[in-house]
Amino acid sequence: MGERVIALTDWRRATPTLPATRIAATGLLADALGRPLHDLRISVTDRCNFRCSYCMPKEIFDTRYPFLPQSSLLSFEEITRLARLFAGHGVRKLRLTGGEPLLRKHLEGLVEMLAGLRDIDGQPLDLTLTTNGSLLARKAAALKAAGLRRVTVSLDALDDSVFQAMNDVGFPVADVLAGIDAALDAGLGPLKVNMVVKRGVNDAEIVPMARYMRDRYGAAVTLRFIEYMDVGATNGWRMDDVLPSADVLARLRAEWALEAAEPTTTGETAERWRYADGRGEIGLISSVTQAFCRDCNRARLSTEGQLFLCLFGSQGHDLRSLLRGGAEDADIASAIAHIWGRRDDRYSELRGSNAAPRDGGQRVEMHYIGG
Ligand code: SF4
Repeated sequence: MGERVIALTDWRRATPTLPATRIAATGLLADALGRPLHDLRISVTDRCNFRCSYCMPKEIFDTRYPFLPQSSLLSFEEITRLARLFAGHGVRKLRLTGGEPLLRKHLEGLVEMLAGLRDIDGQPLDLTLTTNGSLLARKAAALKAAGLRRVTVSLDALDDSVFQAMNDVGFPVADVLAGIDAALDAGLGPLKVNMVVKRGVNDAEIVPMARYMRDRYGAAVTLRFIEYMDVGATNGWRMDDVLPSADVLARLRAEWALEAAEPTTTGETAERWRYADGRGEIGLISSVTQAFCRDCNRARLSTEGQLFLCLFGSQGHDLRSLLRGGAEDADIASAIAHIWGRRDDRYSELRGSNAAPRDGGQRVEMHYIGG
């Protein structure tokens, strides 16, 4: 029986120090590299009903794994209060993630609360969600009615044997596709489908996935190919298993004419390519071979209120202790400004270089802060 790997859960957490003088929320908060705070990704659960090997390998996240007790999760009221304070600093987009966010009970209630928030210009926030699609067919209409705008669905293969090997719980493709259809019917489009590409595992699915999405949905669905990343410390990442986006693009161009398209917003993670025949577009998310840290405007809130400044971070900032410690809004907003203002994370740009973070901290697991 080999060594049992325990995924450390107590990522180093710092209780934020309140700056001596309050920092007012101006809506124009920027980090140490001049990057604004625009997107907040909120993990609402650390649990998932899949065991994707690149995120939650089954041999580690098994029945003995110490998932977080309900009491340590941020409540919907706490999440909404924090989201409101982040909006005061300039956040315009909220993405609900997990684990699998649709496992969180009564999630529609949270969506409704967040849909009531406004950005600094008085506009509703762009409220989105990333899901593995397993529960989407059942929940799409209620999420839309509660105020959700769009969803992104993770789907790594069309071939059931490949997909079930990757999700490692035998979950069928057909049910995820039914979720995509239900989301489009409910008006949660245009929809994005994310496919993590692992060389030798599902790369043969690149062209079949593209063909299926463009033939069935055209411009209503954008398929995005994600380079396999060294997130966390449990997925056994090797560079050999990465299929660079340039190779993905070459395979697609062997089938279809594709034209480069301009980014829709600053900080967009995907490089856009449009089908010349008008059947929509694809995206390439190349964190390993073409890092995009220079415009990274994303903050991540863990399920229990830890603020992470980078997907590959190992240090969280414990906002929950402020929430539950009786801190005033202005103090919490000030702490957020203080933390973000000192942010200089750019892990992907530094990956493998001597300048790469050597803080010895174990990188946070993706299921804890969302992708
Ligand atoms: S590696 Fe970190 S800083 Fe770079 S794009 Fe990803 S989350 Fe942003």
